[in-house]
Amino acid sequence: MNSALRGQYLAALGLESWTLRRGPATGLAQSVPEQSVAAPEQIAPVSEPFAAAGRVADLGWVELRAAVAACTRCPLSATRTQTVFGVGSLEAQWLIVGEAPGAEEDRQGEPFVGRAGQLLNAMLRAIGLEREQVFIANVLKCRPPQNRDPAPLEAAQCLPYLERQIALLKPRIMLAVGRISAQNLLKTDVSLGRLRGQVHHFGASRVPLVVTYHPAYLLRAPAEKRKAWEDLQFAREVCSGVQR
Ligand code: URA
Repeated sequence: MNSALRGQYLAALGLESWTLRRGPATGLAQSVPEQSVAAPEQIAPVSEPFAAAGRVADLGWVELRAAVAACTRCPLSATRTQTVFGVGSLEAQWLIVGEAPGAEEDRQGEPFVGRAGQLLNAMLRAIGLEREQVFIANVLKCRPPQNRDPAPLEAAQCLPYLERQIALLKPRIMLAVGRISAQNLLKTDVSLGRLRGQVHHFGASRVPLVVTYHPAYLLRAPAEKRKAWEDLQFAREVCSGVQR
């Protein structure tokens, strides 16, 4: 990408003066914790076990989309407007994983379409990627009421769908955006600040995974955009095989 174009993208992020600093793994301790509405202690148990989990692992894209659309495996199916399967290129090298649909995503059936989505698009453009070139999904396919955090049972019930998407897509790199996504994907309660700046690996297929801030958080804490830029540069290096 030429520098004028990059300048335009960075300006769209409000980061006219961004410069690439080497050593993205350093300086992590000062990150501000993200805030979100607390998940309930417990949600009602589902009436049946996730018997479809074995089958989900065999589904192709079309069947998988249909299975998600019909899913009633957790109580969120009762409150959603529609499921949010994910969007993007089925040839994508990058898989971006957020937390869960918000109100606008629940309405439109597409992830990251609100203000946070616009910032995500700008972040991707800043590293030379159009939204259509990546695949974007969430840990949860359904919106939690009042945008509360996903409950553990909801995430566990939904994860086989994302795992199948990953198996079908075979991404070169996963970018977990936000604490909830990172902690669910990596099965850890380590803070986002400490998860940044390293290459993690997802699941049995050990897809390289990099963690960065959620764009909704960056809208509230724009000073952190610089660190997100470092994370994206780092992820690009991992994707290109420079760091694995
Ligand atoms: N936040 C997310 O984590 N995912 C979306 O799809 C929208 C907002």
